[in-house]
Amino acid sequence: MNRPQAIERMVEIIKKLPGVGPKMAERLSYHIIKMPPAEVERLIDSIQKARQTMKCCSACYNLSETDPCPVCADSSRDKNTICVVETPQDLIAVSKVKDYKGLYFVLGGALSPLDAVGPEDIRVAQLIKRLKSDKISEVILATDTDSKGEITAVYLSELIKPFGVKVTRLGYGLPVGGDIEYADEVTISRAIAGRKEM
Ligand SMILES: [Zn+2]
Repeated sequence: MNRPQAIERMVEIIKKLPGVGPKMAERLSYHIIKMPPAEVERLIDSIQKARQTMKCCSACYNLSETDPCPVCADSSRDKNTICVVETPQDLIAVSKVKDYKGLYFVLGGALSPLDAVGPEDIRVAQLIKRLKSDKISEVILATDTDSKGEITAVYLSELIKPFGVKVTRLGYGLPVGGDIEYADEVTISRAIAGRKEM
C-alpha cells in the first residue's frame, strides 16, 4: 500500500530541507500527524512569525528583527574590523566569543566552482562596497575550513588586499573541513587570537 496522498505531499516538502533524507521526512510527517492540534498550530505559527519578522540587516546581511541588526547598531563595537562569515548561523557562533569586538559581514554562502557558484552568487560586490564606504582596516576571513571556504578565503584576500586593508584568516584550532557554526566558543576565540595575515 502506498502512503496516503496528504502524507506523501508532506514528505515531499519536508525532504527538501537541508540534512533531511526521505526516511527522516517520513518519520517527521507521521510524527506531526500524531501531534495534538494545538502543538501543530504552534509549529505553523512559529514558522510564519519567523518568516514575517526576520529582516536582512542592510549593513552586514545578518538576519534580525531590526535593520540595522543589534550588532551593527551597537556603537561600542570596533567599526574598523569586520569578520566575514558564510551564514547568519556562523555569525551567531562567532558572536559568542566575548573578546571579538568588531562587526560582521554575511557572505550568504561560499564559492564552489564545481557547483557553478561564483562571486556573483554570493555577496562579494556588497562586501567590496562596504570596504569602500566604511573605514575598514582589517577583514578577518572566517569562512569554513572546508575546500569551498578555503577557496573563498583565498579569492577574497586577493581581491581585498589591493584596497590597502589588512586581511587575516582564522588561525589554528579549527578542524580542517569544519563548519564554523559547530565550533565551540573557546576554539573560535583561539582561532581569532591566532589569526594570520594572508
Ligand atoms: Zn548588521
